[in-house]
Amino acid sequence: MKRSVKQVANDQSIETLKGIGEKTAKLFEKVGIRTVDDLLHYYPKGYDTYGKPQAIGELSEGETGTVAGFLKTGATGVHINGLSIVQVTISDMTGKLRLVWYHMPYLKNTLRADSHFIFRGRVTRKKNGLTMEQPQMFQPEAYEGLLSSLRPVYAQTKGLGNKTITSAVEQALAIRTLERDYLPASLRIANELAEYNFAIEHIHFPADKEDLTFARKRLVYDEFFFFLLAVRRLKDKRQDVQSLFSVKKQDECRRLLNELPYKLTDAQMRTLEEVLKDLRSGSVMNRLIQGDVGSGKTIIAVLALLAVCENGYQGALMVPTEVLARQHFESVTELFEKHGVDKNVVLITGSMTAKEKRIAYGKIASHEADMIIGTHALIQEKVVYDNLALVITDEQHRFGVAQREMFGNKGQMPHVLVMSATPIPRTLAIILYGDLDISVIDELPANRLPIKNCVVDKSYRPRAYRFIENEVKNGRQAYVICPMVEESEMIEAENVLDYTKILREHLPGIRVEYLHGKMKGKEKNQIMEKFAAGEIQVLVSTTVIEVGVNVPNATVMMIENAERFGLAQLHQLRGRVGRGDRQSYCIMVNASGNKEKNRRLDVLNKSNDGFYIASEDLKLRGPGDIFGIRQSGDLEFRLADIYTDAVTLKKVSEDVNRLLDRDEDLEEEENQELKKRLDRFMEEKYEKLNL
Ligand code: ADP
Ligand code: MG
Repeated sequence: MKRSVKQVANDQSIETLKGIGEKTAKLFEKVGIRTVDDLLHYYPKGYDTYGKPQAIGELSEGETGTVAGFLKTGATGVHINGLSIVQVTISDMTGKLRLVWYHMPYLKNTLRADSHFIFRGRVTRKKNGLTMEQPQMFQPEAYEGLLSSLRPVYAQTKGLGNKTITSAVEQALAIRTLERDYLPASLRIANELAEYNFAIEHIHFPADKEDLTFARKRLVYDEFFFFLLAVRRLKDKRQDVQSLFSVKKQDECRRLLNELPYKLTDAQMRTLEEVLKDLRSGSVMNRLIQGDVGSGKTIIAVLALLAVCENGYQGALMVPTEVLARQHFESVTELFEKHGVDKNVVLITGSMTAKEKRIAYGKIASHEADMIIGTHALIQEKVVYDNLALVITDEQHRFGVAQREMFGNKGQMPHVLVMSATPIPRTLAIILYGDLDISVIDELPANRLPIKNCVVDKSYRPRAYRFIENEVKNGRQAYVICPMVEESEMIEAENVLDYTKILREHLPGIRVEYLHGKMKGKEKNQIMEKFAAGEIQVLVSTTVIEVGVNVPNATVMMIENAERFGLAQLHQLRGRVGRGDRQSYCIMVNASGNKEKNRRLDVLNKSNDGFYIASEDLKLRGPGDIFGIRQSGDLEFRLADIYTDAVTLKKVSEDVNRLLDRDEDLEEEENQELKKRLDRFMEEKYEKLNL
């Protein structure tokens, strides 16, 4: 990349870049980019590769394909309702392909008889056969030169396309201030890592796959490195700290345990005892509970919170979504009422009105509230606790390490319990959660029937609708998941709004409603409450319900465009059903028409076990597969994937330990840059929390 003379500090606004005015800057802000530095770290989510031309018979519908075409006749142009269409058909021994361009009448002059081109575009099946719409075209010699190159594809937003982002990144790279590499040279050499500035440039514009792998390896290393340094800092800070909160009385907790309508599984019981023992011990608890979806983590949390409350302390439960917060709040309130537990539960979420919040804050400060349930609104500065003794984060993998610590700082070192359904093998969990003790719930409640699964194509939809209708007639409920909220020009996938309309037509007399993340908090709550109460029978939703939602009466999970989701995510979604003693079903619709994608989905079809799924997924992708769908995006890494990068993770863990164990570790001259960087890293994490 050519470097211009003019350099800018990397914390400058992106408005210093050519072609980015206030308006475009606003769009960039939507995807979290304000500074040149943000832009440099806005890594591509994939790369366009220019593959070898394929035979027409090898093209897959719904995907970008490349063919070499010889035009026997020239293209024809027509006008239909003011729309200009240019088209031409090419063929080879394996089939025929129609090429179509809209609004480009001048192409007719280029697409002459007896000419040769390479065409590249999305393949669809139309009434008149296999079609490529708006294909790019290349001279064969020019295409040859592109063959091994990779072009970045960025996550986009409405009005902000790939071209704009790419050109902004290109400029940012040209004018950035190069950074001193903070990784000690010894580590870089030992691990054969690229230099930092090089890696940043080549993650955006790799010369070829090898180059990309090299750049990525460095940045993955960095991500793990800082994460694990932070984990180590927490661990060292916490080791065997005396707790101010000794939870000796546990009678009421045990009374409620005995009155529950079900018996805890052995695994739940073991976990509960471990938690209660920690709470009695006099040291500060730092524990992770790992348990697959539906293994019954919530009740452990509630019992632990109750134990804390009966000793005169406050306890808090933090969850990643508002929907989940409300659900936990309602079910705990109901449980306590039913069993005469005299403890005050208070809800705090971001969408509450200022007045509602003020009242809640008041109750927390005066200790009128014993138990506090909410989203990260719980850790806002304005929330002052009286004596917070236990903090539990549910589906913790959604929160960062620093958040965990932040929450810890709210009181006088409260006990910390973290609950996660991410199926991380024990060896990796020990590394990633190095600062925590681990309990595993490796057993589902006995009343569960295994979920019945199927993977189908679009033609199965009418049958699926009849099936849902039947379940509803029997008093059950269903979820239908679509990847998109509304129709998009760029992505062909089902969307919640249109799908709801269609489904209402197919299911007359049945109440079908929708839910998605762009709705107001209040609306979302209402819909969720009505679904939980059985007033809504079919809920069409995006993945906002992915985590934690518990409506045991729901027995059908139908997932549209299942091929677009990662296996772990599908497993979470499926976990919304099969939560009671009724037979439940999961219908995965592969709408791509691409049979190859069924191989991945078959893993879910065959198994309901999160660990098995994670390990099979890894086999299908292979270590270091960087083009697959990332599974652990919620573990706050941008590039790294704990499964495919497991080997690197282990290596980094060793490096970090060695670095920190070696006497005055970070104080050494060689590590000064690193130390600065680490401080900044911790600081930035806090900043993001707006604290
Ligand atoms: P998760 O581990 O996914 O958070 P939940 O705690 O939401 O799971 O539990 C799922 C459902 O199972 C809830 O309806 C809960 O009441 C129920 N449940 C929990 N433990 C048991 C058990 N031992 N026997 C029967 N049902 C249980
Ligand atoms: Mg849960």
